[in-house]
Amino acid sequence: MSKRTRILLIYTGGTIGMVKEYQTGTLKPFNFDKLVEQIPELGQLDCTIHSISFKHPLDSSNMNPTHWIHIADIIEKYYEEYEGFVVLHGSDTMSYTSSALSYMLENLGKPVIFTGSQLPIGDLRTDAKENLITSIQIAGMQKGNRPLIREVCLYFEHKLYRANRTTKVNAEHFEAFMSPNYPPLAESGVHIKVNEEDLWEPGRKRKFAAHKKLDDRVAIFKLFPGFNQQLLKGILRVSDLQAIILETYGAGNAPTDRWFIEELAAAKKRGLHIVNVTQCPGGGVSMGRYETSEALRRLQIINGSDITTEGAITKLMYLLGREISSTSFKTVFETSIRGEMS
Ligand code: ASP
Repeated sequence: MSKRTRILLIYTGGTIGMVKEYQTGTLKPFNFDKLVEQIPELGQLDCTIHSISFKHPLDSSNMNPTHWIHIADIIEKYYEEYEGFVVLHGSDTMSYTSSALSYMLENLGKPVIFTGSQLPIGDLRTDAKENLITSIQIAGMQKGNRPLIREVCLYFEHKLYRANRTTKVNAEHFEAFMSPNYPPLAESGVHIKVNEEDLWEPGRKRKFAAHKKLDDRVAIFKLFPGFNQQLLKGILRVSDLQAIILETYGAGNAPTDRWFIEELAAAKKRGLHIVNVTQCPGGGVSMGRYETSEALRRLQIINGSDITTEGAITKLMYLLGREISSTSFKTVFETSIRGEMS
């Protein structure tokens, strides 16, 4: 990384920049300038760091697609001025935001690294400094005069992941994220070791574009033994619903009750896109492997393969926003567009 490498830090909120409120003892976001003051080590990095902050930093539970669009706006505005971007974000919904951004930023030629922490930066035992400093170093990595990483990633506790493959799995451990179906892109120990063969290769010579239309007329229905027809019917008939994820069991399995299959068939006929995603953190959907998924296969339910729920719901919002036609929606969803599925 050289002095000329310019990195833009985008602070959206999250524990990393929170302080304990004196009276209640609850954690809430605070001003970003104070955050930078807490890390004099940033001055030792061999790059130029500029920062920009959300006007009102958020606990990431308050993030929604409007905020995702705001992040895309910032990256689009400063795209030519910086070699890399680091987005500081709460860990709770970081996999959703970073998955959404992975779709929205098409033909990305630079790294966008999401990171945060489990403990505030001012805490004695904080994990924030390592996460932030290594993220900046990774964002500044160059090879042959161009950025080494050209995709949206998530860095946490010594591992760099493809963002749209991640899920938050622990509310307490420093190792809070997992990428069950794709290997880490890099690991940091004494050295930062990048697994170059696993990196995403964006389309050559295609121009970067930020797509900022997202459609939130989507839903997730997680199957559980005993769910009843009324509940399913209620969600499938939500007015104007365009697409739904069915979180199924194991390799994409579901009950074979007639009423269940008939409800799905009727919803499909009304034009609803239905995606089969497994509840299992690892592995994927394989419709037709068991009798309990054969009817779903015959119904032409969309195969979510090994996508995460976070990757799937944001992909639905993105594809609906791009106004993909109903006839090609299934084919497009089943195609990996940013390395989000195998
Ligand atoms: N509640 C916090 C948030 O997601 C947790 C964190 O930052 O890790 O904003």
